[in-house]
Amino acid sequence: MDHFSYTTEALYQGEKVRGMDLAPETIPCFMTTAFTMRGFKEVQETYATGGYTYIRSRNPNRAALGEVLSCLEGGEQTLVFSSGMGAITTTLLALLERGDHVICNANIYGETFATMSKILSKWGVEVTFTNFQDTQNIQNAIRPQTKLIYTEVLSNPTLVLTDLREVAKIAHENGALLMVDNTFTTPISIRPLDFGADIVMNSLTKFLNGHSDAIGGSITTTKALCDKIQPMSMLLGTPGDPFSSWLIHRGIHTASLRVPQAMATAEKLAAALAANPHVTKVNHPSLPDYPQRQLAGEMFGKKGSCPMLSFILPEDMEKLDQFMLALRFPRYAPTLGGLHTTLSHPVTSSHMDVPDETRRKMGITPGMLRVSVGIEDPEDLVADFINALKVYD
Ligand code: PLP
Repeated sequence: MDHFSYTTEALYQGEKVRGMDLAPETIPCFMTTAFTMRGFKEVQETYATGGYTYIRSRNPNRAALGEVLSCLEGGEQTLVFSSGMGAITTTLLALLERGDHVICNANIYGETFATMSKILSKWGVEVTFTNFQDTQNIQNAIRPQTKLIYTEVLSNPTLVLTDLREVAKIAHENGALLMVDNTFTTPISIRPLDFGADIVMNSLTKFLNGHSDAIGGSITTTKALCDKIQPMSMLLGTPGDPFSSWLIHRGIHTASLRVPQAMATAEKLAAALAANPHVTKVNHPSLPDYPQRQLAGEMFGKKGSCPMLSFILPEDMEKLDQFMLALRFPRYAPTLGGLHTTLSHPVTSSHMDVPDETRRKMGITPGMLRVSVGIEDPEDLVADFINALKVYD
């Protein structure tokens, strides 16, 4: 056997497993920036058949995760991105052109709002923000140039529901596409494509990965739309990396166990908070006084709506702080969708740039807390909240 220098041996020995036809029990992480080819014939065939070449164009971990998401969301194809925002910006920039018009729910994730208002204007695209709770507002905002309508299923943090079937109808009657962010609700509660949406987006950073250790995003839609969006992703450099895709794929395996458990706990917590005299209001679709109860029943059925809720305490910041410090389990965290229950304070975080008057009209006051419910034992979690509320006694 030939012997080469240390460096050459270190590079080429120990690689016999590469290329072997193995059947590992779980999908390995393909931490490689490229796939090698031998000879022009193989090069030509690989490019012609859309095989694996360079990491930014295709990667097996992205592809595997995409297959799972297409199945969960009931769509033809999925593209996996470096973040939820990567999925949103890339899709908008790929599908919209100068002169186009977008109608966006005014009650939307802050950075989606910023993308719509700051980036799309540079692109020459006009955006109308309106309240989607009354779909007549959408109808009124339609223009001949309207190409896309954008909403989340349940708004953050007030959990106002959008009637997806109705909005899809308005979009299609006017030749526009409906794009829906399913991050709060996940395909476990609702599949927006079944309600007529054309594109469904997920921040995989949240409940679908569920372990607070990876960032990613996806869109699921038709192959034809993916064919338009994928080249833009390549150019903007927004595809997901293999390790994050692998982690999210691993997390998604247990989403159908974690998310229903968290949704059931959210329902129990919402009911317990609503019954507490210190709590002025609780926002969760499971509650009897939820203003869109019938629509929620039609859209979610018996599956549960989402593991997020918000509630309102008196506008006393010192007491609010004492309450949060008195909680044994939940901690403040500027994210959602993890294994642990986490809290956020919309007025000082997600909605800090929104004027107080507008916030109050949206139902967001300084006493509001948003909760992302985790997989703790429901009795332990509810008892923790009720005990911490004693600071108001
Ligand atoms: N959509 C919603 C509803 C979100 O809450 C977030 C992030 O919090 C995003 C999109 C953006 O996702 P990412 O942080 O993965 O970019």
